[in-house]
Amino acid sequence: MLTTQEQQQYTQRNAILLQLGFSSYKNYLNSAIWQDIRYKVLLPSSRCRACGKKATQVHHNRYLLEDMNGACLAQLIPVCGKCHHACEFNRIGLKIGPERATEKLDMMRQNNQRIWQKEDARNAWQFFFAVLDEVRIYLGMDESEQARSLIERFDLARMALPSRRHKKGK
Ligand SMILES: [Zn+2]
Repeated sequence: MLTTQEQQQYTQRNAILLQLGFSSYKNYLNSAIWQDIRYKVLLPSSRCRACGKKATQVHHNRYLLEDMNGACLAQLIPVCGKCHHACEFNRIGLKIGPERATEKLDMMRQNNQRIWQKEDARNAWQFFFAVLDEVRIYLGMDESEQARSLIERFDLARMALPSRRHKKGK
């Protein structure tokens, strides 16, 4: 739901649109001015602020004249369609203001980073255990007392691992 202040921001935006000669936001989005701005913000290398996938849309953090006429591009954020929609609505499907939507985008980005970090850690552990298993096989070919003792301790340590991680390591 929009706050009074956010509603005022949209009223102000519509006044700026009129000043630029557009009767609606939709007309503005179909204009050459916007196509040019969009082209400058969505470079082939632009990634979505929240998920890192290819950006296909632009999120406005604010709607001042300089943001609308292309003089300032700093408040225009590349996003993908999915994250753009997700950031602009609250949990019960009501639209929230542009700045709050930007905050939400950043929260989504942080959550994604946590997920990626966890996945990286999981992959690293899997790799580590795969190498260890090979070391275990290699040690098995060694007849020495030292190797046998190491294998014994290796197997004990393996059994002491929490079962979930042990299975995932396979
Ligand atoms: Zn995205």
